[in-house]
Amino acid sequence: MKNAIVWFKTDLRLHDNETLVKAIAQNDQIIPVYCFDDAHFEETSYGFKKTGNFRAQFILEAVADLDKNLRELGSGLIVLKGKPEVEIPKLVSLHKVNKVYAKREVAYEEKQTDAQLQAELFKVKCEFETFSTSTLYHAQDLPFSIKDIPDVFSNFRKKVEKDSSIRTVFDRPQSIKSPEIPAVVLPTLEELGLSFSKIDKRAAITFVGGETVAMQRMNHYFAETKAISKYKETRNGLIGADYSSKFSAWLSLGCLSPKEIYFELKKYELQFGANESTYWLVFELLWRDYFRFMMKKYSNKFFQQSGIQDKGITVNKHNIKQLEQWINGETGVDFVDANMIELKLTGFMSNRGRQNVASYLCNDLRLDWRYGAAYFEQQLIDYDVSSNWGNWAYLAGVGNDPRGNRYFNIDKQANDYDRDKSYRKLWLAE
Ligand SMILES: Cc1cc2nc3c(=O)[nH]c(=O)nc-3n(C[C@H](O)[C@H](O)[C@H](O)COP(=O)(O)OP(=O)(O)OC[C@H]3O[C@@H](n4cnc5c(N)ncnc54)[C@H](O)[C@@H]3O)c2cc1C
Repeated sequence: MKNAIVWFKTDLRLHDNETLVKAIAQNDQIIPVYCFDDAHFEETSYGFKKTGNFRAQFILEAVADLDKNLRELGSGLIVLKGKPEVEIPKLVSLHKVNKVYAKREVAYEEKQTDAQLQAELFKVKCEFETFSTSTLYHAQDLPFSIKDIPDVFSNFRKKVEKDSSIRTVFDRPQSIKSPEIPAVVLPTLEELGLSFSKIDKRAAITFVGGETVAMQRMNHYFAETKAISKYKETRNGLIGADYSSKFSAWLSLGCLSPKEIYFELKKYELQFGANESTYWLVFELLWRDYFRFMMKKYSNKFFQQSGIQDKGITVNKHNIKQLEQWINGETGVDFVDANMIELKLTGFMSNRGRQNVASYLCNDLRLDWRYGAAYFEQQLIDYDVSSNWGNWAYLAGVGNDPRGNRYFNIDKQANDYDRDKSYRKLWLAE
């Protein structure tokens, strides 16, 4: 009897999940596992939680949904809490597991955890195999080796669009054979060192974790409302659910696969027509891919002040008061403040807002950009290690921006994107 563990991490879905499909094909029984990793709930050296209340709630919902969907196929999810490299080997011994299947990581800490787990598994003669499941283009299909990926996005994009193609999606399994898996018991927010925060009712969208709601959202944004057909014109919006796709939170936990989005979009284009907007969503998904490949290329440089350019930058002495004013939306610059309040009270901020508040921290306050990135890491529901640190490094002038020193004139931006001040009124109202 061949038993395998499928270790779910940020791939909390049954559709287009190569890890799961391969494990089912190669084994008699599958034991799906999720581990609430203690390291993800610690405080970072910047003084913020690695995971804040909003995202933790979203993760709990996504894990519960995965368990429900697995049970419909005859399986279920074992939920652990602790260090994966300690907890997973215990399960391996208990169930006589031959192999652990998991998603491949690119970021430094995640890779360390995998390496530690692999070393522990080796001691009990258990194999460990990982699969690249989070990008639109598979790393192996890129027209360059990772080390040769251009550091300028448009050079990367043009060559990829010309010389590479997107693999088809993996079908959702029809059934899964598993040993009996007891009813799932999720940790409480308090057990994770957090507490419940009610999301402000002005939030652009209610994010509910899990593949089920992710699919509903995709259907809403595509066929139901056809909002996708206007995406290019609306994507710089600030208010409401449909100015942009809002896929980010589900993408970050892998509740939604970018390939699934792509092929759904192709179907949509056949039925309702392709235009610049439908293309632009794929363009943005390529940015997401790019930051992930860049993380693979430059690893922990993305977490250093000098970034991938090894460039010394001048920042002011750490100023906790200014940092707190930025966090709390009390800088006195109304457009920055409105955006920071939205983030604080909802766990989300538009892309336009993110660019402005990041530029303000880097260029106007001239603080160490990593404090901003670390606060976003705590606060964002859609936090994704590569997209977050990659975008921050970009705006700090130490990442993939060929122009360097990208400065946002906040007054002009506020005037261009919030001319009638409705966004600022929404968030700055008493
Ligand atoms: C300082 C800063 C920090 C950011 N941190 C994150 C983060 O932690 N997680 C995250 O998912 N995105 C991050 N972004 C990118 C972007 O702001 C969000 O992906 C987007 O606002 C999410 O809303 P949406 O899904 O409606 O996006 P849409 O406009 O609908 O875009 C569709 C998808 O394309 C991808 N995408 C779009 N823009 C970018 C981009 N600039 N970089 C990478 N991917 C992109 C996302 O997966 C997004 O869901 C950050 C941007 C900045 C400037």
